Amino acid sequence: MSATILPLRPTARAPLPSLAAAEEAPGPLRMLEQAGLGIALIQQRRITSCNQYFAELYGFDEPAQVLGSFTRDLYANADDFNALGAMSYPVMAEGRPFKIELPQRRRNGQTFWARLTGTLLDPADAARGSVWIIDDIDARKSAEATLASVREQHHLILDNVLVGVCFLRERTVTQCNRAFEQLLGWEPGELSGRSSREWYGSDAEWQAAGQRCYAPFRQGGAFEGEMVLRHRDGHAIECEIRAKALDAAQPELGSIWITLDITARKAAERALRETQADLERQVQERTEALNRLAHYDVLTGLPNRALLEERAQQALAAARRQGQPLAVVFLDLDHFKTVNDGLGHRVGDAVLRELAERLRGVVRAQDTVSRLGGDEFVLLLPQTDAAGAAELASKVLAAAQVPFHVEAHELTVTPSIGIALAPRDGADLDALQRAADTAMYRAKAEGRNTWRFYTAELQAQSDRTLLLSNALRRAIERNQLSLAYQPQMDLASGRIVGAEALLRWQHADFGNVSPAEFIPIAESTGLILPIGEWVLRETARQLAAWDREGLPPLTVAVNVSSVQFRQADLPALVRRVLDGAGLGMDRLEVELTEGAAMQDPQAAIAIMNTLYENGTELAIDDFGTGYSSLASLKNFPVGKLKIDRSFVRDIGRGVCDRAIVEAIIRMAASLGMRTVAEGVETEEQLAFLRERGCNAMQGYLLARPLPAADFARFVRERTVPP
Ligand code: C2E
Ligand code: MG
Ligand code: MG
Repeated sequence: MSATILPLRPTARAPLPSLAAAEEAPGPLRMLEQAGLGIALIQQRRITSCNQYFAELYGFDEPAQVLGSFTRDLYANADDFNALGAMSYPVMAEGRPFKIELPQRRRNGQTFWARLTGTLLDPADAARGSVWIIDDIDARKSAEATLASVREQHHLILDNVLVGVCFLRERTVTQCNRAFEQLLGWEPGELSGRSSREWYGSDAEWQAAGQRCYAPFRQGGAFEGEMVLRHRDGHAIECEIRAKALDAAQPELGSIWITLDITARKAAERALRETQADLERQVQERTEALNRLAHYDVLTGLPNRALLEERAQQALAAARRQGQPLAVVFLDLDHFKTVNDGLGHRVGDAVLRELAERLRGVVRAQDTVSRLGGDEFVLLLPQTDAAGAAELASKVLAAAQVPFHVEAHELTVTPSIGIALAPRDGADLDALQRAADTAMYRAKAEGRNTWRFYTAELQAQSDRTLLLSNALRRAIERNQLSLAYQPQMDLASGRIVGAEALLRWQHADFGNVSPAEFIPIAESTGLILPIGEWVLRETARQLAAWDREGLPPLTVAVNVSSVQFRQADLPALVRRVLDGAGLGMDRLEVELTEGAAMQDPQAAIAIMNTLYENGTELAIDDFGTGYSSLASLKNFPVGKLKIDRSFVRDIGRGVCDRAIVEAIIRMAASLGMRTVAEGVETEEQLAFLRERGCNAMQGYLLARPLPAADFARFVRERTVPP
C-alpha cells in the first residue's frame, strides 16, 4: 500500500490508503507516529482508518478496535461534536485545514485536551472523507492553566502590595504595578515602555543611580539602599529600594525593582531625632539650671558655699602636691546692716551685686570669689602667699572705696578682711575659713576697712611690708639710697675688670634694709621703676667721676628687675643715661634673671636685641636657679652667665655640684658665652673655678660690696702701675 496520504493533498479518486499498519508505513507516517501525533481517516462520521498512536490516544490497544466507531464518541459532549461539524466543513470545503483545540474523550470516559487539524481529501466532495491529525495538548493546557492562575495571582499580588514593583529591561519599564505608578504620580499603564530617567531629577542623577544600583548586579548580587526619586511633579521622594537581576547570569535580561516610599518614615525619624535633641536640650538646660541653683548664689551669680567647697578641695590637693601656698580671704562689709535697714533690701542687694562684680574684677582667673550669704564673701586664692594675699586685700579695699550708685543714692561701704594661709593656718576649708573669720574680726576690732592675717608672725611681716613700702616711697628724695660696688676679677689675668652695683637702703628707724627684702616690695608697688632709674643714673655718674679721677675704665653691672625689663623703653633709658654722662654704651652691663627673660620671650628678645645693638652687654644673673636651659638661652643675645652662688658654695661639698658647675662652664663656652662665678668665698672654690676655665669671679674672697670711695681705693691698690 502506497502511503501517499501525506502531504494530505487530495488525490482525485485515489484508492483509500490504509493507516492501520503504520509500523510498516514509509517516512512521513512514521514521522507522525514518532512525533506523537494521532491520525485518522473519517468517512461518514466513522473512523475508517487510524494509526497506532491515535488508537492509544483514545484508550484502545490497537487501531482495529477503533475502526468503524462513530466519531461522536471521541468528543467530551454532543455540543462540541455538533459545533465542530458546523465550523469545520465550511473551512475545509475551501481546501483549507481546519484547526481547533477541544477536549476529547478516551474510551474510559476521561477527557483530555487535543488540537485537531482536519482536511478534506477532496474539498469538492466531502463524502470522500477527511483526515484528522490529533495532537495531545493536555500537558500544555494544564501548564497554561497553571501559568494563567500564577499570572493572575502575580497580578493580584503586584496590584495589591503596597510597595512599588517595576520590571526594567535596559532601564526601560516592561511592567510595573499600580503602587509604583502611584508612587511616582503616573496613570495606569503610562509608565510602560518609558525610561527610568522619568523618575530622576537630572541626567546626572540618573547616571549616578545607574552606576550605584547596577554595579552589584554584575557581581551577581542585589542592590539594597535608600535613594531619592522624583515624582512626576518634581518633588523628591525618599525611597528604600531593593533591586535584583531576573537572571544573575544575564543581567541584561532585565531586573526587578521593589520600591518603598520612606519619605514619611524619614520625616518621622527626623522629627523623632529633633524631639530627642529638644528633649536632651531641655534636660540639659534644666540640669544646668539646677546646677546653677546648687552651685551659685542667686543674688550675685557668684559660686556658693557648695561650689567653693568643691573648688577648695581641688585647690588644696593641688597646693599640697606642688608645695604651693594658698590663701583664703574672708570679707565682711562694715555696718552693712545700716544700709539694709535705712535704705531697704533692694538697695542693699544692688550694692552686694555691684561689689560682687568688683571683686570678680580684682581676682585672677584661677581664683574663686564666693558669697556665703548676707554680706559675707570668701575668696579662694591658689598659689598665693602672704604678700600676694595682702596685695589682693589692698586691691579689694581700693575697689570698695569707689562710691556705689544705687537708684538716687551714693553709698560707700568698707570691708573688713581676714586672711588665712594654707597649710600653716589649716589643712581644709573649714579650718582655713575659721582662721580667716577670726582674722576678719581682728580687722574689725582694729578699726575696720583693713585686713589682718590670722598668724601673728605673718601679720607682723605684713605690717612691716606696709611700713617699708610707705618708707620706700620717700627713700630717693630723702637720699637714703646708695650703691655698693663689688669688684669682679678676671681669672686668667687676675685683674679687676669691673664691678656689680648693689643697692643699699639706710633708713633712720629700720636701719640697713636688705635689697632681698625691699626689692620685692619695690617691685610689687611699682616703686622699682623710679628706683631702678636712679640706680642707672647713679652708676653712670659714679663711672664718669672715676674716669675723671683716672681709674682704669671699668664696666659696671647693674641689676635690672623683671618689672623694669618689661618696659619697652629700657634700652632708650640706658642710652640716655650713658649719653648724658658722656660714657660709651659698653661701660654698663645689664644683669637680669632667667625669669625676666622667660616671662614674655618675644618681648624680652626684642629688648635684648636693642640693648645688644646699642653695645650694652647682657648677663643672666643667678643662672641655674630658674627654669631656663642653656639651649633656650641660645636665642638670646646674652654674653655672660653668672653662676649662682648656691652652686659655688657647694663646690667644696659634693662631686655632683662640681659636675654641675663644670657643665655650666663648658656649655656656656660652647655657646660663646663667658661665665662669672658669684659668691666665691674660699681658695678651694677659686682654684676649682680657675682650673675649669671659668672666666671671672666675684665674692667675699676678693671683696665685699664696697662704698664707692673704698672701691676706688681697692682698684688702685690692685692695679700695678705701668
Ligand atoms: P645678686 O644680683 O645676685 O647680687 C649678689 C648678692 O650676693 C649681693 O647681695 C651680694 O652682697 C651677695 N654676695 C656677694 N658676694 C658674696 C659672697 O661671697 N657670699 C655671699 N653669701 N653673698 C655674697 P645683696 O647686695 O644683698 O643683693 C641681693 C639681691 O638684691 C641681688 O642679688 C639682686 O638680685 C638684688 N639687687 C641688689 N641691688 C639691686 C638693684 O640695684 N636693682 C635690682 N633690681 N636688684 C638689686
Ligand atoms: Mg646681680
Ligand atoms: Mg646673683
